[in-house]
Amino acid sequence: MRLEDRVAIITGAGRGIGRGIAEQYAREGARVAVADLEAATAEDAAAAIRDAGGEAIAVTMDVTDENAVDSGVQRVIDTWGRLDIAIANAGVQHIEALDKLSLADWRKVTAVHLDGAFLLTRAALRHMYQSGGGTLLYMGSVHSLEASPLKSPYVAAKHALLGLCRSVAKEGAAHGVRSHIICPGFVRTPLVEKQIPEQARELGISEDEVVRNVMLKNTVDGEFTTVEDIARLATDLAAFPSAALTGQSFVVSHGWHMG
Ligand code: NAD
Repeated sequence: MRLEDRVAIITGAGRGIGRGIAEQYAREGARVAVADLEAATAEDAAAAIRDAGGEAIAVTMDVTDENAVDSGVQRVIDTWGRLDIAIANAGVQHIEALDKLSLADWRKVTAVHLDGAFLLTRAALRHMYQSGGGTLLYMGSVHSLEASPLKSPYVAAKHALLGLCRSVAKEGAAHGVRSHIICPGFVRTPLVEKQIPEQARELGISEDEVVRNVMLKNTVDGEFTTVEDIARLATDLAAFPSAALTGQSFVVSHGWHMG
């Protein structure tokens, strides 16, 4: 087991990619705090990990709420006495053209991705700097590196996470903290299922065409990336033993984005 005795907090881990990482981390021996806005999904994911023989707690938190993030991270420290890995994964999507987008919707999306990642980072670093180090992982996207139409606040926030990740690598190095950003292509989670009909409506094409000609068009093999692919990489990055690897972005997208 490659993460034995490590303590991890993962935001947005009630379902989708975050839940997959939480389950994989527990199988690798980590104690996992499943943080999510939705208490029921967080509880469900944590219970499933415990049922499978792992160690997990549910932490209900809105990542855009400063006090909730600080107290959620503190609860992890109070429970297990340490924090080794923090993953800013919580995310939302909003499909709309720029000229129609409200400021409220812009702020809603950027706040979850960017403010949420900052608040988790700050709370985690305050503990990691005292304890001698740790790993910060950010859930970016191919949209951290290129744009698609109708997703401007998401694309802007995901690009900004590259900068946050690199800042953490620079500032954290002296304290034993490493950081990386994982950039998945399309993964068939609820976040993506929801946008298939929305994109079909906005673009005036069928749902099947959205999948084939929009989402997977530029992959090398027409395949979705999977939750398991992302969980495997998140494990490899957390287990890597030195700062030889820090501040990097890793694209996992069936070749949609290369470079
Ligand atoms: P999902 O919708 O399945 O899960 C997202 C989780 O985040 C949900 O459990 C939700 O309750 C939680 N969440 C939302 N707002 C929150 C908040 N304010 N505070 C706390 N939790 C909150 O989505 P997913 O596909 O698993 O996405 C996870 C991450 O991966 C996101 O950052 C997303 O942008 C990124 N990503 C997803 C894909 C994809 O194709 N699915 C591709 C690239 C990147």
